[in-house]
This record gives sequence, structure tokens and C-alpha cells, in this order.
Amino acid sequence: DPRLQGISEAIRVVPHFPKPGIMFQDITTLLLDHKAFKDTVDIFVDRYRDMDISVVAGVEARGFMFGPAIALAIGAKFVPLRKPRKLPGEVISEAYELEYGTDCLEMHVGAVEPGERAIVIDDLVATGGTLSAAIRLLERSEAEVVECACVIGLREVKVMACLLHCISDSAGSMA
Ligand code: IMP
Repeated sequence: DPRLQGISEAIRVVPHFPKPGIMFQDITTLLLDHKAFKDTVDIFVDRYRDMDISVVAGVEARGFMFGPAIALAIGAKFVPLRKPRKLPGEVISEAYELEYGTDCLEMHVGAVEPGERAIVIDDLVATGGTLSAAIRLLERSEAEVVECACVIGLREVKVMACLLHCISDSAGSMA
């Protein structure tokens, strides 16, 4: 896809952020580039438009930057999957492992109906722990998770990323 090169080039890599040794993939520079941002959303929309998807679930926080635009374009609802104690209503929670410790994602009870077809959107997949928690939340609500989709799949998880749908990777080659 000729759009992928520009998308990849628009993502800034920040060494040693947020701590030494981390090469942080910064999608805020992609959001500044109208063509690259639109191309990113369009690639997801092209893929999911005709797949009978009624739920786009976005992972806090950077999944919120792509998910709503995709949801609007494909005629689906947007469901935020949030960090603990952010959602005001009744929630279900799923914990996931971090490098040091655990974190948790929450979803409002009733946001998704049994049988709905869902996709999960985030900016980046590394270990897949975050996406796994998102899938568990949706499946506990009896939604069908059709696919997870990220803008970036890190090279070291390329095998797993192939099971997902990633449109760029940190090295600039495309999944
Ligand atoms: P995983 O759970 O190990 O797959 O990590 C994915 C999560 O960590 C996503 O929610 C990402 O937003 C976040 N993340 C990890 N590394 C980066 C990065 O370099 N840039 C942006 N987000 C990152």
C-alpha cells in the first residue's frame, strides 16, 4: 500500500523515553500530519467497512485518537476501554501484566450487547498484554472480537503482530 511509507515516516521515535533504553514510538507527530493521519484512519476503514462491525473499542489513551474516527466512518459505536476509576458507571475489569507489576482496563456494563461484532484499536502492540485484556472484557460481555488493529507492531513481536492487523512497524517496514 503506497500510503504506508508516509505513515511510517510520520511516526517519531524518541530514544530513552519514558526511561533509559526505551525507544518510544510517538504517534503525536502522525496526528500533526493531515495526510498521514487520514491515510491511517482510511486504511482501517477500508479494511473494516464491510465486515459488519458494530463496536469499535479503543484502548486508553492512544486508541482514543484513532478509534472514534474509524467508528464514525464505518457506522459503528465507539466504546472506551479505560484505566481504573475513570468510568463513572458500573464496570467490568480485566488486569494485565506490565514489565513491573500489573495494570487494569475497565469497560462500562451495557456498552456492548451479546452477539455484537467488535474490533479493538490501539496505537501499538508490544507484548499483546493490553490487547488480551481488551479482548477478555469484550468476550465477557459476549461480543465477538473479530480482530485487533494497531498502527504499530514492534519488530520483536512480529510473529504475534501477524495475527493482528498492524499497518506499520517500528523499523519502517510494513506488516
Ligand atoms: P503491550 O501490552 O505490551 O502490547 O503494550 C502496548 C501498550 O503499551 C499500548 O497501549 C501502547 O499504547 C503502550 N506502548 C508501549 N510502548 C509504546 C511506545 O513506544 N509508544 C506508544 N505506546 C506504547
